[in-house]
Amino acid sequence: MNVILMGPPGAGKGTQAEIIKVAFPIPHISTGDMFREAVQNQTPLGKEAKKYMDEGKLVPDEVTIGIVEERLAQADCDQGFLLDGFPRTTIQAEALDKVLERLHKKIDTAINITVPTELLVRRVVGRISCKECKAIYNLEFNPPSQTGVCDICGGSLTQRSDDQEETARKRLEVYSEQTAPLLAYYENKGVLHTLRGDRETREVFADIKNILERL
Ligand code: AMP
Repeated sequence: MNVILMGPPGAGKGTQAEIIKVAFPIPHISTGDMFREAVQNQTPLGKEAKKYMDEGKLVPDEVTIGIVEERLAQADCDQGFLLDGFPRTTIQAEALDKVLERLHKKIDTAINITVPTELLVRRVVGRISCKECKAIYNLEFNPPSQTGVCDICGGSLTQRSDDQEETARKRLEVYSEQTAPLLAYYENKGVLHTLRGDRETREVFADIKNILERL
């Protein structure tokens, strides 16, 4: 099953992806995570990506398409994949189609999670995650039992540098301008499913599970 998770920053894509990959054994491909890892390892890709990420802007298409193309060609994607945070522009969506055509694959479903804008900002600004196991918490809505410590693995919790309010608002603006138009792209292909993300995590997941089980 070849799946795209769509939605603005703070919609809950990362949280849902963590649950989906346990229930459905397909690799979770998050371009944001790939860039953050590159930044942490100070690779040339990381140095290039950081300039854009710090400002809440998109990393150039050619860079992003290159890393996804390489990742999708790996053997663990043979049985399917869960794309999170890609594609984000029409150019990326068209490039993805070409890559998949070469690999004799296609997108089965694009799941779009919607959340009212002001809630998105509160979610992003309060978001912290575990450095070790990547579990996601929220200081306002879902705090860990002990400050700064992951309930699941005991790892330390950290805030993303681009989750400050000003950068978060810029990312939401970029989403409306460059990524939201993609919804029509997948609607036209007949694969778009839209669901409300301003609910309990397990309720959102129940809807996603239903969609994935019908594929
Ligand atoms: P995310 O973790 O998906 O919110 O992504 C964090 C940041 O990584 C974004 O604000 C962009 O700077 C960059 N990024 C992630 N995915 C993409 C993409 N598909 N295209 C361009 N930039 C991206």
